[in-house]
Order: sequence, then C-alpha cells, then structure tokens
Amino acid sequence: MKLLSADLILPITHPPRKDSAIVIKAGKIAELGSRKNLKKKFPQAEEFHFPLLMPGLVNAHTHLELSGLKRLSAAGGFTDWIIRLVREKRKWDSARYARAAQKEIKNQLRLGITSLGDVLSDPVMLEVHHQSPLFSTAFYELIEIREQGRKLKMELMKTHLAEFNFALGRTKPGLSPHTPYTVSRALFQEARKFAVAHELGLCTHLAESEDELELIQSGSGPIATRLYSQELLMDIKFKPASCSPAQYLADLIDRNMTLIHCVEITDSDLEIIAKARAVVHCPRSNLHISGKLAPIPKMIDAGIPVALGTDSPASAGDTNLWNELKKVYQLRKEYPGREIKPSEILKMATINSSRAIFRDTEFGSIEKGKLANLIGFQPGKLSDNDDQSASAIINAGAAGIQAVFLNGELQKF
Ligand SMILES: [Zn+2]
Repeated sequence: MKLLSADLILPITHPPRKDSAIVIKAGKIAELGSRKNLKKKFPQAEEFHFPLLMPGLVNAHTHLELSGLKRLSAAGGFTDWIIRLVREKRKWDSARYARAAQKEIKNQLRLGITSLGDVLSDPVMLEVHHQSPLFSTAFYELIEIREQGRKLKMELMKTHLAEFNFALGRTKPGLSPHTPYTVSRALFQEARKFAVAHELGLCTHLAESEDELELIQSGSGPIATRLYSQELLMDIKFKPASCSPAQYLADLIDRNMTLIHCVEITDSDLEIIAKARAVVHCPRSNLHISGKLAPIPKMIDAGIPVALGTDSPASAGDTNLWNELKKVYQLRKEYPGREIKPSEILKMATINSSRAIFRDTEFGSIEKGKLANLIGFQPGKLSDNDDQSASAIINAGAAGIQAVFLNGELQKF
C-alpha cells in the first residue's frame, strides 16, 4: 500500500487541496483526504511526498505509427501536405512503424503522458498497443470512399480486432472512420452501428481544412482534382452536399463520436458538434497546415468538452503534449471569442482528453476509485488558485516532473 502526499493536490474535477494525500490500493485511488488524517489511518503505508500531485496527461489524438516521421512541408496548402504524407507512408513498412511507436511509448511515459487516443492504419499497431504499459484507446482506421470496397474493409477490421482479447490488456479498441472525404457515408453508418453494438469508441477528423470544406460544399477543389485523380488515381465523383462538413455528418454525430480538429466551424455548426462526445484540439498541427486556430472558447462556452492532442509529427513536429499545452497558453488571448483560462487548458489535457478517448470513468482526475495514473510535480511556485497553479505547471512543462505513477506503480526510466 502506498500513500502519496503533496503540498498541493490538483484533482482537476474539484478545487485544489492543500496538505493532502491519497492512498493507493490495487492500482487505484482508495482514499483522498488530509495528509495528517491518512497518515494516522494508514501508518504502515509507504509514503512518497511531492510539492504537487496531478493526474497523468492524456494525449487525445496521435498517429503513433508515424512517430519516426519529420514534419512535412505544408507549402501549397492542406492537399499538398496530405499528398506528401501519402508518399512518405508508401516508403514505410509494418516493422518500421512498430519500432518507431515502441520507442515513442517509452518517451510518452517519461513525459508523464499515461494514455493516448491513437489512430492506427497498420494492424501491427494493435500488437504494439496490446503490449504497451499505457492505458490507451487504439482507434482502428477505416478508409474507403468507394462503395465496392466497403464490405471488405469492415471484414478486415473485424478479423484484426478479433485477434486480441482486449479485456486482458490496458488498451481498449475503437474505430476511426478517417474523414468525410475518405470514407463514404455508408461506411460511416456501418462503422457506427458496429461500434455501438460492441461498445467501441469512435473518432473522426472533421472540418480540418478549407479544401475539405470546398469538396463537401461543391464536390470540387484540390482534394477532387489532385488527391483523388492525380495521386490516388481513383475515379471518384464526390456528390456535392451543399453544406458544411459538420452538417454533412450531423445525423451521425452523438455521444459515441469524438471529433478531431473542427477548425472550419461556423457559429451554426456549434449546435451540431455540441452533440459529440468531445472535440480534440490539435493547435500546432492546425497552425502548421492552415495557419488557423479553431474557435475553442466558443466550443467551451457551448458546453463542448474540448480535449487536447498532438496529431502526428508530420504536422505537429513531435508527439510531446506539453508543447501543445504551451502553444495554447502562449496564444490564449488570440483565440476567436475570448481568452482561454490556464485551468481550462489543463482540463483539456486530462479529464476532457480522457473523455475524448472514452475512458473518463477510469482516469483523468484524482478521484476515489480511479486508476492511480499520476504525476509528482515541482511547479516552482505553488498556489491553491486554479489558474495560477495551472500557469505554473504549463510553464514548467516536462522539466517539472519528479515521478510518474502508472496503475499505482512508480515508473523507472
Ligand atoms: Zn490525425
């Protein structure tokens, strides 16, 4: 039995607590109370003391198989960037994906990132996640816009997922129909039906670029002419929907679906995306590709749980979620609408990201019954004011980490 005490505990879902402690039993938080009382109640417990204790960070959107990639140029816009990515991926094989991802998983732990919402296109990544110490959700990616390939894609997915007994590991499976321009509406519907029947989480990239907006609105633009015809050599005629990407998927968006990006969102789209489980904000990726910030304050004010993710190094540059926290903090006054509070940024990277990967009942905050996935931290200046402590943590970043506990176990690096 362990007793983790701190001058300040940041539960995230409740106000900060001074001179408090938690008791860990069987990997879970069994008690949360004053340090004095818990030390008296559990005198035999081994004590670890830190200036601050907080939940481990959760990166709500990664493509871990691409960990070995460098950032690709976005010159020419989104479609040119994605064509560069498609060409880069052709050079890689499963073994290389797996090696890069395994290395990155070790790095994530060192950074205090205890869970990922990872999208995978190569089934080898299911094995990588199955053996990973992290508590992740592995979203199996579905890409098929043509009607004739739909059945095969669903069958392959079922076969790959059936190879693992996910109840035995820390990873849970999910599905990720890729985007509205790479997945037919019929496949979206079928994936959703399967996910609901098997209690799997769903996520999709939505409204990431102006090119996507143009395609869905009018069936034309760089995605139609350059990605479909020239690069993929596919004769795809996207039927213009004369609406926004959010409106295009409106009937499929509910609590079973997490939306990634949502940069090209109008005020009237907010009502639609408010029905989603969460929206994942990937600021460095969005700024690299389109130079824009999603209307995050408007989403928060509309009651949408906004999570934080890095996306892949191909757009963000790395998979370090602390850099994402720092980016939002640095630009917190520049977002459309209003300033983002530091405490809101920390909430994004913990409880909201856990929600986005369908695991908020298990972790993401310091509460009785949740997994003891925790960070012992030295933030420099301590304050029991939510926003001041969040500012100090974000500014300190990974350098402030003193210890990482996963399932109640102290990690050794
Ligand atoms: Zn992505």
